[in-house]
Amino acid sequence: MIVEGVELRWLDLHLRTPHRTSYGTDTNRPVILARVVCDGAEGWGECAAFAEPTYSEEYAEGAWEVLRRHLVPRLLAAPPPTAPPGGSARDGWLALSGLLRGTLAGVVGHRMAKATLEMAVVDASLRASGTPFAAALGVEVADVDAGAVVGTRDDPGELVDEVEALVAAGYRRVKLKIAPGWDTVPVEAVRDRFPDLGLQVDANGAYRLDAAAGDAASADRLRRLDDAHLLCVEQPLAADDLVGTATLARRLSTPVCLDESVTSLRRLEEALALGACGVVCIKPGRLGGYGEAVAVHDAARAAGVPAWCGGMLETGLARAANATLAGLAGFTLPGDLGGGDRFEEGDPAGALAVTAGRVAVWRQAGMGPAPRPDALRRVTSRTEWLAGS
Ligand code: MG
Repeated sequence: MIVEGVELRWLDLHLRTPHRTSYGTDTNRPVILARVVCDGAEGWGECAAFAEPTYSEEYAEGAWEVLRRHLVPRLLAAPPPTAPPGGSARDGWLALSGLLRGTLAGVVGHRMAKATLEMAVVDASLRASGTPFAAALGVEVADVDAGAVVGTRDDPGELVDEVEALVAAGYRRVKLKIAPGWDTVPVEAVRDRFPDLGLQVDANGAYRLDAAAGDAASADRLRRLDDAHLLCVEQPLAADDLVGTATLARRLSTPVCLDESVTSLRRLEEALALGACGVVCIKPGRLGGYGEAVAVHDAARAAGVPAWCGGMLETGLARAANATLAGLAGFTLPGDLGGGDRFEEGDPAGALAVTAGRVAVWRQAGMGPAPRPDALRRVTSRTEWLAGS
């Protein structure tokens, strides 16, 4: 597969409802798309990086720069990425993903930017052969459970009303964002109102293990959430505090889930060895691509650790790919795949429809729906075409 060039597009999108977490509020949701043009096919990749470097080090402007200056030039200078002949569709796309990882390995980190190109190249390859991502993954289910996410709010009553609407819409699992000072009271309010709802919380690393942090910010506070019978408490401590997380996990009856901490298969293996990971959230962007996401899924499944597919407020393109990934057998908990059309401007790829708390696996060729040209034009503020030689 000869890569003729890569077009980067910057989409100016805004969230209908600001996304409030322990690290801040996101209103702008710029999305970078990469369109890889090959001989005979083109493919689309979507970058997970947010506007600001608050969820992780990566952010959209930085991803744009590293893509145009460092990653796309490496892709264009490398030998054409071609999977070895004769293998299964699964072998083929995983080999392609591995080749891409090797091509981009000279750049340290920047996993979300790298994942953008991996997705685009794999998408082009799948479209060229008319293969749906589900077939390449070996996913046979038609749809998967989608969970909903509710950010922090000012008032527990407001939160309960929002959860009520989500339950009425068919969601069977709801995730509440928590932060020091917004934890026990709102969680108990929701649990009291919905005793049987699948409920989990996400702290985005906002707590500290040491008591010096003060009661409100101390991880001891999370023990009070054990009575709420949560599916898991996600990323309670800082991403790099695996030893502390293992200590905390021993003190809680609620399983501890890792999100930001797990940036690679190796990091998952370390976390498992330490006893710091009872549940894992798998995000292809955070892991550098779908190939690494499958490796993490396989390792978690082998270890008997439940997994679920995370979300990064994606468009319908990456959401469809994620819903398909979530059809693998190790994804035993509902993923952050709900929410429908979250953008004021409308979703340029078409939002993933949620029906009775389920979303469909993508069954057409490629990773997900290609963005619609007219919708793309309306929200694109910047494009750059980088041609191969
Ligand atoms: Mg999270």
